[in-house]
Amino acid sequence: MEEIKCDNCKKDIEKERFILNLKVCPYCDYHSYINARDRIQITVDEGSFSEIANNIASVDFLNFYDVKSYDERLREAKLKSGLDEAIIVGEARISGFKVALGVMDFSFMGGSMGSVVGERIKLIANHSIKKEIPLIIFCASGGARMQEGIMSLMQMAKAVSSINRIREKRLPYFCVVTNPTSGGVSASFATVADIIIAEPGALFCFAGPRVIEQTIKKKLPEDFGTAERNLRNGQIDMIVPRRELRERLTTLLKLFVG
Ligand SMILES: [Zn+2]
Repeated sequence: MEEIKCDNCKKDIEKERFILNLKVCPYCDYHSYINARDRIQITVDEGSFSEIANNIASVDFLNFYDVKSYDERLREAKLKSGLDEAIIVGEARISGFKVALGVMDFSFMGGSMGSVVGERIKLIANHSIKKEIPLIIFCASGGARMQEGIMSLMQMAKAVSSINRIREKRLPYFCVVTNPTSGGVSASFATVADIIIAEPGALFCFAGPRVIEQTIKKKLPEDFGTAERNLRNGQIDMIVPRRELRERLTTLLKLFVG
């Protein structure tokens, strides 16, 4: 029987049990990475997701090269993740409620925000406004995509101004923070939601604890940047285990949409 080792407690878990448990460790409750397609499948009503804005693609406009070209990195990311970018957006239903949905995937270049991620957020925000339906975004990101230089940083302002237009229309916007959410995403559309939900143990911060420790040369608290600490400090609204997320989103949709 195939087994998987928990990244946190290192115990062996029967693969089938792990998958049925939505990739949450049955021993220590560690919420493992889940890809965007699986996330959509466990969140929305069966067969209700229809993708939009999938006709735009990142290009290497700076001819950026570190140890590999950006073009090559994009090709690799597509092969590895089976996605064409770090976010999928579209319309779906959750317990019958129509929603505009965005789901980021960390396996595509660390969920980094480049110009296509920003553009898709703008387009799904526009869709939410056009259809007068709530917006829900699942975040997972290491930050801005350095291969796009300043253009990637500009996506922060673009995403937030798109969210502001949703606010002007008095449409609800919920954000679900998954492990990890940091950098430009945590500093823009992840933190301006009406309701910020996090999965247990999710890292949610601007700079990661290792970078900060190296910079200030001090030891940080054990739980720095975790969902639990963020909840205590009022940075997020609730922590919801993965198996209860769909139900909680349904409750919120009932409250906000009626
Ligand atoms: Zn575990």
